[in-house]
Amino acid sequence: MLVPAINIVIPLYNEEDVFDKLISRLTTLMDSFEKTIEVILVDDGSSDRTAELMTDLAMEDQRFQSVILSRNFGHQIALSAGLQQITATEAVFIIDADLQDPPELLGEFYEYYKQGYDVVYAVRKNRKENFLKKFAYKSFYRLMDKISYIHIPLDTGDFSLISARVAHLMNEMPEQSRFLRGMRSWLGFKQIGVEYNREERQSGESKYTLRKLFQLAFNGVFNFSELPIKLITNLGLLTIVSSIGYFLYVVAKKLIYGNVPEGFTGLLFVLVLFGGIQLLSLGLIGEYVLRIFFQVKQRPLFIIKETIKDKERKNHRL
Ligand code: UDP
Ligand code: MG
Repeated sequence: MLVPAINIVIPLYNEEDVFDKLISRLTTLMDSFEKTIEVILVDDGSSDRTAELMTDLAMEDQRFQSVILSRNFGHQIALSAGLQQITATEAVFIIDADLQDPPELLGEFYEYYKQGYDVVYAVRKNRKENFLKKFAYKSFYRLMDKISYIHIPLDTGDFSLISARVAHLMNEMPEQSRFLRGMRSWLGFKQIGVEYNREERQSGESKYTLRKLFQLAFNGVFNFSELPIKLITNLGLLTIVSSIGYFLYVVAKKLIYGNVPEGFTGLLFVLVLFGGIQLLSLGLIGEYVLRIFFQVKQRPLFIIKETIKDKERKNHRL
């Protein structure tokens, strides 16, 4: 049985177009690398031929392990599923399938690992996405940094090399809504950021839909920040204080000037404003409650339909 020094974990969702390119880059890397590597490919419920290609590859080449999920669970969960399969004695390299994260950087990252870093994360120097997307990403990371109770480094994603111990600790973290880069920061140990140029997607479209991106952002905010809920409390306090202030002002005005008629416009404005604030507040609280709800259900994070690795290879139908 292959006991690798390094595992490379890659989630794939409808990546048949880029598959061959990815595998050839990985094989070249593995052939020349100083340590033994096993690649764990996780199929996140693709509807194209990705799973089939993965199965064939894993049957042929024992350096590849194929994990096929029962449906699309999303990038973070697919990654978590891959991390659960690791056997690496030293470190785990996490990359995307679309070659936006060059696999060749493993060598450079591994040098830092050898120097004693537990987490070597990639920092994007530039992004090859459109202006709006870039702006949204940048603002999100800066907002996150301001409001979260741990420091999550700016412009970093999941692309990283983590030590086997950090990977195992992440596996032990029981949270259901997973924001891996936040969990990675939370764990601590010696961490370092390495800058790189993010390539363009090699083929196909981004598999992150707007909905999935928002989900990721929400998980970041509500799992790693207490600010929204603190904001509500403070807003409530502010409202009470100002309404008492306003009440006193009206009473004083009446005592000094006699009865001063007040218009309805102001009243309506305040009414609508606070209606909105209350709905928003309920929604924010709801986000936390929802996460508690998912947590207490204790469902498994993912369902594996099939895995092909070393020992099962023999018995698997061909
Ligand atoms: N991915 C996944 N499940 C999903 C969406 C994406 O496993 O539901 C994978 C995808 O195949 C890729 C990685 O996650 O390997 C990053 O996705 P993508 O490149 O589409 O995101 P972007 O780079 O646009 O943020
Ligand atoms: Mg991509």
